[in-house]
Amino acid sequence: MTVMNCRERFSFDEVEGNEGVKSNLLNAINAERISHCYIFSGEKGLGKKLIAKCFAKALQCQERDGAEACGECAPCKTFVSGNSPDVFFVSPQHTKSIGVDDVREKINARMRTRPYSGRYKIFIVSAADKMTVAAQNALLRTIEEPASYGVFLLLCENHRLMLPTVLSRCVILKMRSVPKERAAARLSALTGADCEKAALYSGYAVGNIGRAVTLMNDDEFSHMREAASLFASGINDLDELGLFKAAAAFEPFKERAAEALDIFYLWFRDAAAFKQTGKQDILINSDMADKISSCAAQCSMTKILRVCDSLLKAKRRLAQNASFQMVIDAMLISVIEA
Ligand SMILES: [Zn+2]
Repeated sequence: MTVMNCRERFSFDEVEGNEGVKSNLLNAINAERISHCYIFSGEKGLGKKLIAKCFAKALQCQERDGAEACGECAPCKTFVSGNSPDVFFVSPQHTKSIGVDDVREKINARMRTRPYSGRYKIFIVSAADKMTVAAQNALLRTIEEPASYGVFLLLCENHRLMLPTVLSRCVILKMRSVPKERAAARLSALTGADCEKAALYSGYAVGNIGRAVTLMNDDEFSHMREAASLFASGINDLDELGLFKAAAAFEPFKERAAEALDIFYLWFRDAAAFKQTGKQDILINSDMADKISSCAAQCSMTKILRVCDSLLKAKRRLAQNASFQMVIDAMLISVIEA
């Protein structure tokens, strides 16, 4: 994610899509009606932290014209440099949860004193849905009787995991992915990737820009796609003797088996789409169009769909904690029988 960070100015126009969330925040700033607690909910990569930072920066700006921070005043500069004395970041540390002591020390204790130089004291809490019940109850006490200057921005993947008593005191804003074309354009601008590459990764990330950037920097993701392509090229000749060899194609991705199965599935779904329409521009793996069309030419539609089905079934069985080896073997046998 370093590619994104070096360009961030924390201005709302850096947040792609999510117009409803943006207008909610911009209206609140313009009307000077700031709630004490906001929840930004949505899967990883959708820009929850980015939009929370844009909001925090605008709230602290002293020369604001409209709802956007000026970018020039002292609070704006200290914010961008990461040294704002009145904005605090809290996230799970060694343990994977945020405990009651974290809330008491990092939030409640700091909330007792007034802001150092800004108008607000802002707490940006990552993985807020990982707060223990005791931690949420400790936070609740501060939210119930908020200091006039206190603002909480709670980021989480699933706000439904939080206590109803906390939720009822928060403005809940849901972050969403954006259409793939818009995600691709933003990805190009952020990373300098060409159109084809940006479309490929945005397609895989289903419009989640953060996830697309992560995939772009993930060597294993590329290896999974190559393995899928190689597996597909031998699919027609796969027999029981070749089963061991085919199973070996999955072995390197044992730790990320669900992702690998997804990638293999999307590869064969592309083959089905190409076989049905003959169109290359609808493929997610557009850079592998030649290999996909050759797979589509060599395999019957029944076979391709059977492979897709077997891969999905394998992913479901993995989620039910079946052993990796058994799942892969059963999947391959079902492919051979197709
Ligand atoms: Zn400013």
